[in-house]
Amino acid sequence: MLPPIVHHPAYTAEIPADHRFPMQKYRRLAEIVAADGLAPAGFVVPEPATSAQLSLAHDQSYVEAVLALAVPPAIEREIGLPMNETVVRRAAAATGGTILAARLALAHGLACNTAGGSHHARSDQGAGFCTFNDVAVAIRVLMAEGMIGTALVVDCDVHQGDGTAEIFAADATVTTLSLHGEKNYPVRKRASTIDIGLADGTDDRAYLAALDGILAPLLDRTHPDIVFYNAGVDPHEEDRLGRLSLSDAGLAERDRRVIEAVRSRGIPLAGVIGGGYGADVEPIARRHALLHHAAAAFAG
Ligand SMILES: [Zn+2]
Repeated sequence: MLPPIVHHPAYTAEIPADHRFPMQKYRRLAEIVAADGLAPAGFVVPEPATSAQLSLAHDQSYVEAVLALAVPPAIEREIGLPMNETVVRRAAAATGGTILAARLALAHGLACNTAGGSHHARSDQGAGFCTFNDVAVAIRVLMAEGMIGTALVVDCDVHQGDGTAEIFAADATVTTLSLHGEKNYPVRKRASTIDIGLADGTDDRAYLAALDGILAPLLDRTHPDIVFYNAGVDPHEEDRLGRLSLSDAGLAERDRRVIEAVRSRGIPLAGVIGGGYGADVEPIARRHALLHHAAAAFAG
């Protein structure tokens, strides 16, 4: 059986066509995944995350402000997206999608969202194109339901997972690993359980060596009830915001190694797509689909 893939049309929100955030990549990713035969029975469609669920990882006042379209202008600027109705609907749908992917991972071993990885959203506000921290909300929801007791976040987006680190800073049940470009956004990094800051220009070989050096020992030490994998494709050499030098083949090998390391230990894995930036969404969407191909190849 191919791993379930979670998608919702609301993942593509309405923002100006010339906006620097490549919003159309979500629509295009779904088309590619379907055309490549990875979702023969169709996508699994999530319910939007509820206010109560979102408030398990965020301050209730922030959640209410977002849902009421009343985010203060200073925070809206930090998020970097116009906080209109479609952007808010997208944030709730994407978070619901990661919750659903996690439930499906617990049931089937492996499942991926076609959005998610909003790792810059902190407990009290969003930032860096992230409104709600979908992975943090999903972890808190599953813990509140007694479905999991521990979790590991493997964050391979090129930007440091500062929001996730902040939310779980005092939570010993959640281990956070961030593999990122040291000189990249955010300027002020928050301490994850383990941070690996890579130099500008890091290539496939050095990147994969850094990953191999930490992932297996960390899995053996923590043996979490679930792994959330942020498969951001912004470490790619052509990414507009990346500064690293991974190739398409390097990203594919990274995804394969993470899935193999986690699943060979019998640990469920929920994949989210994270960042990927550039003016042309086609190559970015194709890079994001590498995650879904890697998941399908492992299951097959
Ligand atoms: Zn990123």
